Amino acid sequence: MEMKLQSILDNPHKRPIIIAGPCSAETEEQVLQTARDLAPQNIDLFRAGIWKPRTRPGSFEGVGTPGLKWLKKVKEETGMKVTTEVAKAEHVYQAIKHNIDVLWIGARTTVNPFSVQEVADAIEGVDIPVLIKNPINPDLGLWVGAIERIYKAGVTKIGVIHRGFSYHGDTPFRNVPRWQIAIELKRRFPDLVMICDNSHICGRRDTLFEVAQQAMDLNYDGIMTEVHPTPDDAWSDAKQQITPAQFQELVNNLVFRDATT
Ligand code: PEP
Ligand code: MN
Repeated sequence: MEMKLQSILDNPHKRPIIIAGPCSAETEEQVLQTARDLAPQNIDLFRAGIWKPRTRPGSFEGVGTPGLKWLKKVKEETGMKVTTEVAKAEHVYQAIKHNIDVLWIGARTTVNPFSVQEVADAIEGVDIPVLIKNPINPDLGLWVGAIERIYKAGVTKIGVIHRGFSYHGDTPFRNVPRWQIAIELKRRFPDLVMICDNSHICGRRDTLFEVAQQAMDLNYDGIMTEVHPTPDDAWSDAKQQITPAQFQELVNNLVFRDATT
């Protein structure tokens, strides 16, 4: 399918797109504190999961709709744009109602065409930017299918997030990158904004920088990283989150290509 895509965001910072924020919105204070610490870093988009798809039951499954009001406060207080994950029609309706700027589709949703179609149908008629994570399994067709379903719903601002692929066996990664799959996607659809989610690829803090730098070296358009005021206490993905100060250091050390070219 031929797609005419637009850029997902204005990018006034002349550098790759920076998306950061906690894995999950936990409390109003935690969300606002993270946002206040990130705002001076001029990030492009603040992320926080409101509905969390957890692998096993009994884990924290997100604060749900009340957390959307916290993201609204982030916008009002800091001026940052905000994004959250949507997996069902009801999530889409609530997110749009609360003026979320960008929606993202998670890796466990991209694998399921019924779910992607449900999200696409709910978005139809609202040209809100959508970021689509790769499916958890290394299936480029499913990733392309999800992009096409969202495009057919009338969305022209589409980006993709490469967050790595499930792997059973020994690997230093939480999700193995298999860079060639993302590179092939970009080859087929050169206008797609390609973001690297180093947090979910690494699953740990000490390799976040090298994976982000590799993405920059491969000409990715940006990164998405999980940032929490007190990472060890995080209610989800504690091992991979970093503080706002550590994030600033990570970004400062990255060597960017020139985003204007
Ligand atoms: C997340 O971004 O916190 C998340 C749940 O990601 P993924 O869908 O990549 O597992
Ligand atoms: Mn997470």
